[in-house]
Amino acid sequence: MEHRAEARIDLNALASNISLLKSKAGADLLAVVKADAYGHGLIEIGLAAEKSGANYLGVALLEEAIALRTHGVRIPILAWLVPPGSDFNSAAKHDIDVAVSSIAVLEDILKLQIKPRVHIEVDTGMTRGGFLDEWPEFLGRELSKIEIVGIFSHFARADEPGEKQNADQLLNFKEKIDELSARGINPPIKHLSNSAATLINHASAFNMVRTGISMYGLTPDLNTFGDSKKLSLKPVMQLRAKLHLVKKVQTGLPVGYGATFITNRETKLGVVAMGYADGIPRIAQGAGIFVDGQRAPIVGRVSMDQFVVDLGPDSKATSGDWVVIFGDGTHGEYTADDWASASLSINYEIVTRIGPRVPRIYAPHVY
Ligand SMILES: *Cc1c(COP(=O)(O)O)cnc(C)c1O
Repeated sequence: MEHRAEARIDLNALASNISLLKSKAGADLLAVVKADAYGHGLIEIGLAAEKSGANYLGVALLEEAIALRTHGVRIPILAWLVPPGSDFNSAAKHDIDVAVSSIAVLEDILKLQIKPRVHIEVDTGMTRGGFLDEWPEFLGRELSKIEIVGIFSHFARADEPGEKQNADQLLNFKEKIDELSARGINPPIKHLSNSAATLINHASAFNMVRTGISMYGLTPDLNTFGDSKKLSLKPVMQLRAKLHLVKKVQTGLPVGYGATFITNRETKLGVVAMGYADGIPRIAQGAGIFVDGQRAPIVGRVSMDQFVVDLGPDSKATSGDWVVIFGDGTHGEYTADDWASASLSINYEIVTRIGPRVPRIYAPHVY
């Protein structure tokens, strides 16, 4: 069936990013595939990352990890957002590692006959996940009864490498490792770096890094790191849609809900068959599409299933043509970063929120 929109996912770009990041890190790589692999497709990306040399997969939810396992992933998988009362039996049965970040979870696991492997999550300064106030109590527990394979923490400001908080968190992480070691516990895998730290902060690599956004070919922060191209990363997702309709219009016509745009010339407008239900941000202004060798900006408000662009009076685009919403930018098209700036957001949110109505096509990008 011909689709009205598609996200094309280039698995060769993914492989290229993984090998670049592994060599930059000089450590094992945990491929972060939570949230449907940042919108790129959980199973396909999980399997492709494994094939491309990832050493571990990381997800937020236990059910994401189980889906990966049941679809044939063989490398270790860590699930880190696993609250008390989770099905830790299933984790053990499916050979899934889980994060422990509270006494409540520790107690759940201690009760089991067959226990999953655990990574201890420590709060080193982000004040979100990980042990903080319960850490001394945790250290006093019967830790020899669980299989501890890792210790990890997460940076809050790795995308701002000059911030002192990065050095503080690193120091705090090392102290936590030492405190465990003093009790005879030496988790073999230590991991702290996300994408931003992997790209810039070698002291934090330890023996594994956890890369998400960079593996998808996107910059962790446009201002501090530059764009994908500068980082030699290849954007994995290209978003395309069909022009539902092209129409000639006169000057002075109100466009869309609320008439927030009035045509200011005779021109051709294109109706693009994607909207906020598909993850096109409703507030986006200043991004658009690429067709017939040219950019065409959004005009008026994005609606649920469609938005309107100004193609210009001389455009040769016609109803039914494919347009590029974002890609790697090399042909002049908008990028996920452009869409992020146009929506007061970040590239992470742009790709992750592409909705389930949009089929993911595992194939090279097309222009
Ligand atoms: C999402 C996440 C990552 C990946 O972060 P990126 O900035 O996308 O590389 C790493 N670690 C944890 C714990 C995460 O939740």
